[in-house]
Amino acid sequence: MGSARDKSNPQSKQAICYSNVEVRRSASPSVIVIGGGFAGIAAARALHDASIQVIVLESRNRVGGRVRTDYSFGFPVDLGASWLHGVCKENPLAPVIGRLGLPLYRTSGDNSVLYDHDLESYALFDMDGNQVPQELVSQVGKTFEAILEETNKVREEFIEDMSIHQAISIVFERNPKLRGFLIRCCSGTCVEWKAGLLQMLRQYLSNAGTRHEELLPGGHGLMVRGYLPVINTLAKGLDIRLGHRVTKINRRKNGVKVTVENGKTLFADAAVVAVPLGVLKSNTIKFEPRLPEWKEEAIADLGVGIENKIVLHFDRVFWPNVEFLGVVAETSYGCSYFLNLHKATGHAVLVYMPAGQLARDIDKLSDDAAANFAFIHLKKILPDASAPIQHLVSRWGSDINSLGSYSYDAVGKPHDLYERLRIPVDNLFFAGEATSTDYPGSVHGAYHTGLMAAEDCRMRVLERYGELDLFQPVMGEDTPASVPLLISRI
Ligand SMILES: Cc1cc2nc3c(=O)[nH]c(=O)nc-3n(C[C@H](O)[C@H](O)[C@H](O)COP(=O)(O)OP(=O)(O)OC[C@H]3O[C@@H](n4cnc5c(N)ncnc54)[C@H](O)[C@@H]3O)c2cc1C
Repeated sequence: MGSARDKSNPQSKQAICYSNVEVRRSASPSVIVIGGGFAGIAAARALHDASIQVIVLESRNRVGGRVRTDYSFGFPVDLGASWLHGVCKENPLAPVIGRLGLPLYRTSGDNSVLYDHDLESYALFDMDGNQVPQELVSQVGKTFEAILEETNKVREEFIEDMSIHQAISIVFERNPKLRGFLIRCCSGTCVEWKAGLLQMLRQYLSNAGTRHEELLPGGHGLMVRGYLPVINTLAKGLDIRLGHRVTKINRRKNGVKVTVENGKTLFADAAVVAVPLGVLKSNTIKFEPRLPEWKEEAIADLGVGIENKIVLHFDRVFWPNVEFLGVVAETSYGCSYFLNLHKATGHAVLVYMPAGQLARDIDKLSDDAAANFAFIHLKKILPDASAPIQHLVSRWGSDINSLGSYSYDAVGKPHDLYERLRIPVDNLFFAGEATSTDYPGSVHGAYHTGLMAAEDCRMRVLERYGELDLFQPVMGEDTPASVPLLISRI
């Protein structure tokens, strides 16, 4: 494994040592990046472009991590991330996506109560298959926005943290009119619909809103051709060792020693740890000496949530021409929705996206059983639905390479956890969505943290080498002129 690289690049032999014998002090600065997701690849690209020797160790047999584009249907489908949140030039990923000319499909603007969807582009059904009138959907959406505005006041009044659920309860106590709108109606079915809609909105807010994310402008755009071309472009020419699961990281005064599952060790001046928070929580990577207490606490206290995708491919389109089909129910477990990929891509595909406990339960099913589960839900709302011809199922919660979908800040925990997770420890630098104070839980957040970790790491290793000629900026001034992003909606 190591020998192929050593032959092709004699300089690298000096830089990163890949053997059972430790050799100190190499001729040029070297960094090991652990994890080949967006954060790790961004860090490796930046370090490589700054003339630092880099090896990426990736446990899976592919790069991308929680970005995974599948082509088995004959066209791209994303089983992990699929949206660019914030289609604007300020988005850290905009220069790369713009240069590649990849098309985006807008599913919502900046101010949607549902984050990356618009309530107007939904067809909603109850558990008996009755479609909820669009007028009612809009009314409940507006009332929910008013409820959220009131929760902002509650947030300002109370010093202590509270859950969204608790804040909404306080708003209802104070504003009987708002509550009254939701329970007063001419028919029992209508009351049930309103309750179901409120439940769906609440659940959505809990899934998306707990991310504490800084919202970039420009709305939310689906990557029509998938995210893979972006990571492949960034990874081009890098030394990436697939199938290399790291089990131990030793840090010493002047370097790091990284042990891989097969027992091999690598040495470098520094390392960028870009594995998911779920993996750090599982303690499957041993740090020697132990990470400081403040870092261990941050790992323990930040939450990891789960979202999965069950992708159903049909031989024809039999559903309404909307972007989402939703099921409203009085329990969050019963609420669910299907993303209609036909609108954005022209392919007869619906993506069922369970979150929370439902996603955890689906993680335990076989692929066939999970696809059947989603299809049963679809049949409830569209009784004439024909069976899918192919399916794909993600398992981000149980996959040992991710152990969760994305981070969230849990109620009652300190507010500086993302920052604590990011702060370097000696010559270990940390990257990944869960280290992003600005955009956690996102691809552009992960990418941005990779660039930041690379910059910190570069400064540290170059300080040691004193190689001022290598002091070229990793990010910023050298970025080529930006190309506008291509976004549409029909
Ligand atoms: C279902 C789903 C939908 C999402 N939708 C969106 C979306 O639409 N838009 C958006 O912006 N974000 C979305 N996200 C979030 C986004 O995918 C992540 O925030 C981002 O991809 C994380 O990148 P990362 O580099 O931090 O981590 P990862 O992509 O998880 O990369 C970490 C890498 O480390 C590797 N690794 C793990 N353990 C080891 C080890 N011991 N040794 C070596 N390597 C190891 C993993 O295999 C992986 O490749 C979604 C996530 C999921 C799961």
